[in-house]
Amino acid sequence: MAYPPLDDRLVEPLLRQFADSPLYRTPQTPSGEFDVRFSTAPGHFIDKGPRLLLGTPLLVNGLPRGAVILDAPQQRVQDYLSRTTPKGEHHVLLDDSGALIASSERNFDARQDLTALFGEAANADTDLRGAGMVDYGRGPVLYRELEGTRALLLAHIPSADLRWAVISQFSTLFVCLWVSLGALLVITLLIVDRLLLGQIAVNERLRDLGLVDPLTRLANRRRLQTDFDGLARRLKRQQPMALLMLDIDRFKLINDNWGHSTGDEVLKHLATLCSALVRPQDLMARYGGEEFCVLMPGVAIEQASVMAETLRAAVAQSVCLPNPQTMLSTAPSPEVRLTISIGVAEWLLDDCHSLEELVARADRRLYAAKQNGRNRVVQDDTLYKKRVSGISG
Ligand code: GH3
Ligand code: MG
Ligand code: MG
Repeated sequence: MAYPPLDDRLVEPLLRQFADSPLYRTPQTPSGEFDVRFSTAPGHFIDKGPRLLLGTPLLVNGLPRGAVILDAPQQRVQDYLSRTTPKGEHHVLLDDSGALIASSERNFDARQDLTALFGEAANADTDLRGAGMVDYGRGPVLYRELEGTRALLLAHIPSADLRWAVISQFSTLFVCLWVSLGALLVITLLIVDRLLLGQIAVNERLRDLGLVDPLTRLANRRRLQTDFDGLARRLKRQQPMALLMLDIDRFKLINDNWGHSTGDEVLKHLATLCSALVRPQDLMARYGGEEFCVLMPGVAIEQASVMAETLRAAVAQSVCLPNPQTMLSTAPSPEVRLTISIGVAEWLLDDCHSLEELVARADRRLYAAKQNGRNRVVQDDTLYKKRVSGISG
């Protein structure tokens, strides 16, 4: 019933020994005797290997009343230790004299291996109390005193494993570090993104400035060319495309009579009025000083002429009221009335293969409109041809 093995006959003296221990000592009776009784449990010697005897006093109202004895075959303890020891580690249980009670490794030669593995820590003489770690030059040894006993559990752990355990303890710190780095990276990316977006916005503005007429905010000549090229690729000469060329009649007189500021306002007035009348898919552009183009994809000459006539009539009926502060004091009236002449061309009908050709054809008809009294739309070369033949005749 005991570790080291104990004959049943020795159990009674052992229990007497318990009774004599200070733990069982109660306040002495007047007769000077100890008030302790004990009875032995009937038992028998089991010689199936060494057994472990663990005992603890039983207290009632603070007075010792007996003991609980745990008798376990050593093999059980041995098995338990093997089962619960993590792979790669070696644990041993020693009694307070340094003798091996159990080892997590079955083929463990206590005599040779104990000191080899645990060094000085294996000597129970070493004053190891509680729990902790010691290193006597053979790697770290973790120890723990089993609660309520002097038995010492030693664990030999390879240094690499211990390092990893420490690292994993710090893993929260590493995760925080990584999260912070990630957050920093995201913030940096956002800032770079913003800067880039800002740069893109600036670039777009610059590009727009290169495509927009600053006075009228209409598309400029470059934008007209770009759009024409795109449309020409898309329509592939399978659909019509018309171009109107507008020119303010006697604009020079407006400048002369009202001043250039008023002239500018007249240009803006015309731009606002006409761009509100054309279709959304049409492009109105300022071609030159007081000349404007309307590019009309998918539109044949007849429909384009109708639009031209609409624009002409609208302009003729409109009144421009410029800022009186900026007009010449000699201005004939506070409002300006104006007319426009328009030449119309269509790329399929007029066999034009470039913007230049289309503009030239529309311009020729605009010239004919001017020659034939202004404030009119010309969509073919009849008038032009008449005039040319008239000149040559
Ligand atoms: P027509 O009926 O034959 O077209 O006569 P016009 O006077 O309109 O033609 P002309 O080409 O003789 O005159 C055009 C004028 O447009 C000359 C120029 O000073 C003026 N002009 C060009 N660009 C601008 C501008 O941006 N602002 C102002 N106020 N005038 C401009
Ligand atoms: Mg002109
Ligand atoms: Mg003009």
